Amino acid sequence: MWRRVACIYRMYARRLDHLPPYLFARIDEMKAQKRRQGVDVIDFGVGDPDLPTPAHIVESLCAAARDPATHHYPDYTGMYAYREAVASWYRGRFSVDLDPATEVLALIGSKEGIAHIPEAFVNPGDYVLATDPGYPVYKTSTLFAEGKVHVLPLTGGNDFIPDLDAIPREVCERAKLMFFGYPNNPTAAVAPRSFFAEVVDFAREHDIVVVHDNAYSEITFDGYRAPSFLETDGAADVGIEMHSLSKTYNMTGWRLGMAAGNAGVIAGLGRVKTNVDSGAFDAIQRAGITALTGPQQCVADACRVYEERRNVLVRGLSELGFDVPLPKATFYVWMPVSDSMAFAAKMLDEAGIVVTPGVGFGPSGEGYVRFAITRSVERIEEALERMRGLAL
Ligand SMILES: *Cc1c(COP(=O)(O)O)cnc(C)c1O
Repeated sequence: MWRRVACIYRMYARRLDHLPPYLFARIDEMKAQKRRQGVDVIDFGVGDPDLPTPAHIVESLCAAARDPATHHYPDYTGMYAYREAVASWYRGRFSVDLDPATEVLALIGSKEGIAHIPEAFVNPGDYVLATDPGYPVYKTSTLFAEGKVHVLPLTGGNDFIPDLDAIPREVCERAKLMFFGYPNNPTAAVAPRSFFAEVVDFAREHDIVVVHDNAYSEITFDGYRAPSFLETDGAADVGIEMHSLSKTYNMTGWRLGMAAGNAGVIAGLGRVKTNVDSGAFDAIQRAGITALTGPQQCVADACRVYEERRNVLVRGLSELGFDVPLPKATFYVWMPVSDSMAFAAKMLDEAGIVVTPGVGFGPSGEGYVRFAITRSVERIEEALERMRGLAL
């Protein structure tokens, strides 16, 4: 048997070799080994809410799943009623007007949209601009479309906002797409509205399709309200925003998101999607309508939970000598360290704590680790207690 498998490995297409090395694999392996040894691992690695999906949304799915009308192939672009709910949410939340018929597309999670959009816009050899550190799919989707990634470094020195003037002219001329997102994963940075305006001007000048990834707009603290890129003058002329119910309503497993904005970009992505998937389950879309149009108290409640965890973790880390600013948004804490892989390995090996090495999100993530505060205050306190015993 093993012979046959080894021989199949050699048949993999070259594009699989071109994928960046999966640096999280080593941490995953170490984590599994610790668990096998009976260690009570505290996992701050996963960007997946530990809180359940609110009950009224679950009830809505159950009722919808009992209706045989939802059991068929969905509409490729999403149920019209779901697209209307997205448009009405954007109007209420951001004062952005969208035509549900042409400017909204249902996605099977925003990852799906990010993974597919280069297929619609990128020819082999075209550049795609992507923030680094960043959501890994920006790069892998570009490589699948045989594009070239030009990274936009996010560093403490630029407040984790890319310097568009630093992009070489020949790259600007051959760039087709730009991926970025604020509130940002993994750095937890937020962007001033003036940066969104800069992106619009830049995209206009160089004919670049902009994809703003806004998965964390609702996870904000201390009174901060995150904008939509589409609020920016001219944004809908140059691109779209990907959004998702995953983080807002603790629905990561449900796979439901949306793309919104420029009708031409939406249509291009839609053409790819009609050829690779058959849309999101209608019952899930109906539950999505309930999420977007129903009571929003659940979102505020979740933010309060994350805010308390953030305060406990950041205060504890500062007592340990780590200087971490309080993030205004996302459920991440991005902490400077000297060597991210060594720090993460030591935390796991000596304290049974999983954090993600920043370099796993791209070379500019070196010098940081990411904590996902998707664990209870009790577990955070336990982790801080264990860290007190380490020479970090
Ligand atoms: C979680 C996340 C997504 C994707 O979420 P979906 O579950 O696919 O909707 C996209 N971008 C960023 C930055 C994320 O953190």
